[in-house]
Amino acid sequence: MTNVERCRRHFGQSSLCPVCNEADESILHVLQDCCVASAIWQCLVPSSLLPEFYESNLQAWIINNVCSRLLHPEGDIPWSYLFLSSLWQIWKSRNDLVFNNVAHPTNAILGRAITWTRYYSDICQQNNVTAPNCGSTIPWKQPEPDCKETVQMLNALHADNSPFSLVRAIAKLR
Ligand SMILES: [Zn+2]
Repeated sequence: MTNVERCRRHFGQSSLCPVCNEADESILHVLQDCCVASAIWQCLVPSSLLPEFYESNLQAWIINNVCSRLLHPEGDIPWSYLFLSSLWQIWKSRNDLVFNNVAHPTNAILGRAITWTRYYSDICQQNNVTAPNCGSTIPWKQPEPDCKETVQMLNALHADNSPFSLVRAIAKLR
């Protein structure tokens, strides 16, 4: 959870980014604008596309890149895969710094993002899997019956005496 979200929930006292100390740590800041993320994007996004790449709306930014059908010029790997892999590596490196005080060099983050993208892309090619169509929607599915039963068990008056240890543990947290 970013510091902006922690402050919003009254968990934290500062919304400042712990990596750069220059801006509020929103999710868009971590993934797009912070020094680490910015360095990654400077390396990955062709310079001709950089002005259009940055977006102030998180959802639009992610959707535009995930729906992209472009191939990255180096290695013919789908940009959407590389974009998502890079987001994941940027987020993981941020967490390692915040929680374990371990800083990862930009080149290492970049290398992992590219390696995972190539691996995933190869697996998709071997199995004839194509990127999902962004124009399609995923319909909502009714929860499985056992989900409903679990919710009922958790909401039961004596959930703290349930025969299921997990239900008892959750009941004690409330
Ligand atoms: Zn920052």
